[in-house]
Amino acid sequence: MSKNKYSRCGQDYEMNDEPEVQAPAATCWLCLRPLGEQVDKYHPVPKSRGGRATVAVHPICRRTIESVFTNAELARSAGDRDKLVEHPEIVRFLGWVAEKAPDSDAPTAPRRKR
Ligand SMILES: [Zn+2]
Repeated sequence: MSKNKYSRCGQDYEMNDEPEVQAPAATCWLCLRPLGEQVDKYHPVPKSRGGRATVAVHPICRRTIESVFTNAELARSAGDRDKLVEHPEIVRFLGWVAEKAPDSDAPTAPRRKR
């Protein structure tokens, strides 16, 4: 019998308080749909404004936020999702994206998969 290291017996989640964001959140911060394979980390409060927290979003959602809001507006919303989703552009985006596949990455050209 060999002496095996006995250390890797499963169950080490929850013991991990590293600040690393390994996306345990399975839904997108913005659109609340399940996340696909591509997950972007997004700073609801811009880094340049002292924001440190990140949230997991679809790439398309991050791009949408960034195209709709300026950093100043984002800083003012202070990471409050409710403020962002009131914006008419975001309302429209959420309505549109709701029926897209989680990994849909094409804002304008619907792609046919399968
Ligand atoms: Zn999303």
